[in-house]
Amino acid sequence: MLSLNKIFNKLVKRNKTNGSSRQSVPEPIIVPRSEHSISRKQISQQALKVLYTLKEAGFDAYLVGGCVRDLLLGHEPKDFDVATNALPEQVHKLFKRSRLIGRRFKLVHVGFGRDVIEVATFRAPPEASNHVDKQGRIVQDNVYGTLEQDAWRRDFTINALYYNIRDFSIIDYTGGIKDLNAGLIRLIGDVETRYREDPVRMLRACRFLAKLGLKLEAETESGMFAWATLIKDIPPARLFDETLKLYMSGYAAVAHELVCHYGLFDHLYPQTAALLHQEKDAYPRTMLMKALENTDKRIEAGKPITPAFLFAALLWEPVRQEMMLLMEKGMPDIPAMQRAASEVVSQQIQRVSIPKRYSLVTRDIWTLQPRLIKRQGKRAFRTLTHPKFRAAYDFLALRSDAGEPLDEIVDWWTAFQEKPSTEQQSMVADLGKVTGRPKPKRRRRRRKPASEAQQDSH
Ligand code: ATP
Ligand code: MG
Repeated sequence: MLSLNKIFNKLVKRNKTNGSSRQSVPEPIIVPRSEHSISRKQISQQALKVLYTLKEAGFDAYLVGGCVRDLLLGHEPKDFDVATNALPEQVHKLFKRSRLIGRRFKLVHVGFGRDVIEVATFRAPPEASNHVDKQGRIVQDNVYGTLEQDAWRRDFTINALYYNIRDFSIIDYTGGIKDLNAGLIRLIGDVETRYREDPVRMLRACRFLAKLGLKLEAETESGMFAWATLIKDIPPARLFDETLKLYMSGYAAVAHELVCHYGLFDHLYPQTAALLHQEKDAYPRTMLMKALENTDKRIEAGKPITPAFLFAALLWEPVRQEMMLLMEKGMPDIPAMQRAASEVVSQQIQRVSIPKRYSLVTRDIWTLQPRLIKRQGKRAFRTLTHPKFRAAYDFLALRSDAGEPLDEIVDWWTAFQEKPSTEQQSMVADLGKVTGRPKPKRRRRRRKPASEAQQDSH
């Protein structure tokens, strides 16, 4: 184990190299408390307690990763991660409210409920000989290491900064401070090797770009274009988690544009991507972007969002197209929608999984669409009381906003929901009298911006 005391006693050394290669940074930069902006007031009580408890038990303890990066950038961290030289079992013993998680590489979660502090023992980078497969992907990642090794095995330089609870300094082995100041996201080490080891790093790069508004360092960026296809080999369950992080963190619209730009979306949602590429029709892109912008606005306003609505929007165009094809072959609208939903979802989950608890709701949102459009007799009342009515109505409003000629129908449902039941009866009766009710045929025209009410109460 590297002696930290030796490092601490050294004066702060500024990085003489650019920090992009493992061999070029022999000494870490240590930024003393007086030279950086992170104060203990900005750190959660629970995280401080974990750090101090580890320190008092004689271990080294650091905040690391996104929390240090975000604090230095003036953002509020999403969560606090701790790195230590204590082994997981030793950490577990120190905290009553903790549990060991992970099979291959054990981590400790301290505190339950909303505020969980993840404590990880320093890990060493994988060795080519026995920790990566033929494609270069990490298959084993379970060797404990030193602080220095732990820094080099992390993804980006800005994510490899350590806040030391012993003297409140920041330790930087990889040039993260310099990159943070320059606003650069730089992969640590050789770009091809690091993307091959774990292609999800490309999605993480897009996420940090969208969230932090930084830029990609040139090689980190060119590597994304070169290695985007590797994302295909990632297990669908992990890609589901990454989809949620990308699209449900408050910057979905920008993140989506980035994953499209770097060619990653093609491998995540191939059915949708193929249709988004069709230049002649702007509707699919408009519809998806409006859904994502709406999601971002709802998060900003502190309103709830659900992955089911997100997947309904992400996969809408392939479902809509498939439904239209089936209807052209003579299938009625509702069964056509059900069949289309099954086909599109079953293909999609081979790439990015969608847990049943969400995909069932997604299907409800879709299959309620033809019912919302028809509004026939008693069915209108049944539709109104369907548990997913509100989400389906919001989805219909989104379609209308994106250019489908559904304004009248949306307005009808808006009024119908608010009327007392006697008036609802007459609204339904009036509908029966109307002949030649507008068919849901696409027209190219845009409606006013999405109403604030969209996606409410999902
Ligand atoms: P967020 O604000 O989204 O939590 P984060 O950087 O903290 O951002 P986490 O997923 O919480 O992201 O990961 C914590 C840290 O673990 C990262 O900052 C990084 O140092 C390291 N890490 C996470 N994923 C990887 C990966 N795929 N490869 C290498 N290091 C990783
Ligand atoms: Mg984090």
